[in-house]
Order: sequence, then C-alpha cells, then structure tokens
Amino acid sequence: MFKLVVERDGCTSCGSCEDVCPELFELDEGSIAHIIGSKRVDNNDELETEDEKCGIDAAESCPVMIIHVYEDGVEIL
Ligand code: SF4
Repeated sequence: MFKLVVERDGCTSCGSCEDVCPELFELDEGSIAHIIGSKRVDNNDELETEDEKCGIDAAESCPVMIIHVYEDGVEIL
C-alpha cells in the first residue's frame, strides 16, 4: 500500500507534478497542487492507494520536495 502526501503550504505552483502525473495531480483554482481523490488533512492532501501510478515520478519532479511517498508506512521519497 502506498500513501501520497502533498504539503500544500509549500507548493510553488510550478505545475511539474501535473505535467508528470496528470492521473493523480492537478492544480486547483488557486494554482496549488491537489491529489485527485485525496482527503484534506490540515492543508495536506493525502491519498492511500495500491497503485502509485506515476506518483513517485511526480514526487521526484517536485523542485521543493513537498510530495512524499510512503510504502507500507515507510517514507521512500
Ligand atoms: S511539483 Fe511541487 S511545487 Fe510544483 S506544483 Fe507540484 S507540488 Fe507544487
């Protein structure tokens, strides 16, 4: 099981995550990254999923490293 987290407070609206992984990421009306289908916890988006799809690629593409990926509870990115 994977968990993807975006710390939205740090998002610079660069759009890289959306470019790399539009299946999971989009910029919202305020141009802040949003994980499609996620739940909002404080100002973070969190999504638990069996298939990380392109989430790891998106995390690697984030210039300010605010996309985190956990696999079975262990942070891998
Ligand atoms: S790549 Fe990072 S900084 Fe850029 S829009 Fe996505 S979450 Fe925000």
